[in-house]
Amino acid sequence: MTTTDSQKTTDSSTLHLGLVGYPLNKSLSPIIHQTLLKLCNLKGVFNLIPIEPDQFQQTDGFWGVVTTHSPLTGFNVTIPYKVDAYNWVSQRTPQANRIQAVNTVKHLEDGTYIGHNTDGIGFYTALPEAVKHTLNQRNALVLGAGGACRAVLEALFFTKPAVAKITLVVRNLEKAQPIINLATQWAKQVGSAFEVSTFEAVTPSLLASTQLIINTTPVGMIPDVKASPLSLAQLAAVPPNCFVSDLIYKPTETLFLSYAKHFNLNNQNGLGMLINQGIEAFSFWTNQPTQPHWYQAIETSILTSIN
Ligand code: NAP
Repeated sequence: MTTTDSQKTTDSSTLHLGLVGYPLNKSLSPIIHQTLLKLCNLKGVFNLIPIEPDQFQQTDGFWGVVTTHSPLTGFNVTIPYKVDAYNWVSQRTPQANRIQAVNTVKHLEDGTYIGHNTDGIGFYTALPEAVKHTLNQRNALVLGAGGACRAVLEALFFTKPAVAKITLVVRNLEKAQPIINLATQWAKQVGSAFEVSTFEAVTPSLLASTQLIINTTPVGMIPDVKASPLSLAQLAAVPPNCFVSDLIYKPTETLFLSYAKHFNLNNQNGLGMLINQGIEAFSFWTNQPTQPHWYQAIETSILTSIN
């Protein structure tokens, strides 16, 4: 089933971690958590637990998962089960409550389960300090309106300082309505501005007043590497201090990021978010405070594995 089954032991001091989702064949989570277990000198295993949606329903959802894979100290959750995990856990962290999705579950000593969401923290931690400190002077353009977008919006609104303004750019206004309602409420709560646009309605003047662009759509991801959510001509309109972030990490440089580079705009791919959400999840499960050297060690392990 997994890359780590051979290391399975029943020793009670062994941490039993894993990832539940479907499909999982391309997951980098085992590399992240095996590196962290080694760095912290902890005995543990990280197992991929792929479950097809039909099977998930038939085997009592997460109750089936935790029974079949007992004892699980904690586990990550990915597509398509983050909302199921949110509904299943008996306690939630403030991030999970706001995002209304759970990507990290921890088994508590009293036998109950707490749900957390580390995607927003992972995204925010990966931003350069210079961007974090000036969020209240930045108007952001957030492209897409899916699960990752929800976590990005939560991070940009609920950090201090909060972002000045977000314009959410969507392709389907009706489908995006729940996230629009949520973001409208969040913006009011923290005193930021919030607007919505379609991709067709993104004007050069909107781009000219944007200092942060985040692509949360899968446009440009392998195998569709010749696609970009914004064109080269559109990026020509953004100011030189605009920071460009793409949540995609395969390829490590999307066409969109190559456009940003063309105009010498500072930019980053999604690897930082991926690594940091993993670090935050590991720290949540193990109560180990996060260490600055963890990031580099994980990045090296990942880059060795994907190159
Ligand atoms: P998702 O829930 O499926 O959402 C994708 C969003 O992108 C939807 O709003 C979708 O619009 C929009 N979209 C898709 N194709 C589009 C197109 N051609 N033009 C305009 N909009 C389009 O997916 P997700 O979980 O949010 O993930 C999105 C991306 O983020 C993926 O590439 C994923 O790999 C990446 N991601 C990275 C990390 C990380 O740690 N770096 C974490 C999570 C996700 P509709 O609603 O109209 O379908």
